Amino acid sequence: MKTPTSRPVVLCLSGHDPVGGAGLQADIEALLAQGCHAAPAVTALTVQDTVDVSDFRVLDRDWVLAQANAIIDDLQVQAVKLGMLGSVEMVDTVLEIMQRLPGVPLVCDPVLRAGGGGALGKDEVGYAMRERLFAASTIATPNLPEARILAELPNGSADECAEKLLPYIRHLLITGGHGDEQEVHNRLYSRDGSQHTFVCQRLPGNYHGSGCTLASTLAGRLALGQELVSAVELSLDYTWRTLRDAEQPGRGQYIPRRLPLDFC
Ligand code: PLP
Repeated sequence: MKTPTSRPVVLCLSGHDPVGGAGLQADIEALLAQGCHAAPAVTALTVQDTVDVSDFRVLDRDWVLAQANAIIDDLQVQAVKLGMLGSVEMVDTVLEIMQRLPGVPLVCDPVLRAGGGGALGKDEVGYAMRERLFAASTIATPNLPEARILAELPNGSADECAEKLLPYIRHLLITGGHGDEQEVHNRLYSRDGSQHTFVCQRLPGNYHGSGCTLASTLAGRLALGQELVSAVELSLDYTWRTLRDAEQPGRGQYIPRRLPLDFC
């Protein structure tokens, strides 16, 4: 039995975004800010800027398994965060990895589109997540467009999507950034029937990496042993602050500022 002498370790299975707004860089920064250690395993490479994605390549299954096995053999993983998987095969690879981590909280960010709208996986990847991965997950964190794809309800409300998806997953956080309400309504649904709505001020602009920031923060909070509802509330609050303080380093979307300026 390993005796942990480090901050809680979160295994991140996500894609790489070369402009550093989303993907593994978002995971690492957000987890550092929670007081966790990120163990980043690459699932896919992307070509993109702050405007949109132009290409991506999913890594071979063996490479992802080898990365995850190296981490699991050495570190004591306290939570897992899933980001871009990119293919149905990668969904099954993640299931294989999770067999080595029974009982470890799993936060699934069902990434199918980049912030600029470009595809990061076919809708079939989302359906495979719903059918196979959701049962192994603690919570999924889709935004409303992702929830509509997963639920196959193109014009569905958050409530309608949740009703369709809750048989597959224990907890579902549907974020409201793409909603049409004046304020942002983030809705947490649980299979036991409980529901929480977290309202925050709508910020102007478009952001690149907000979903990654939220999901990895939540995985970090669960790794720290926090209870789910308060972990969700704190993660939403932290993510909102990273968007309020976001920077615009390029021509396109804003990038969340996940670490304080005086971090170093
Ligand atoms: N993961 C990767 C590798 C990405 O490139 C992106 C978006 O471009 C995402 C995830 C999703 O980003 P967001 O957090 O903006 O939904």
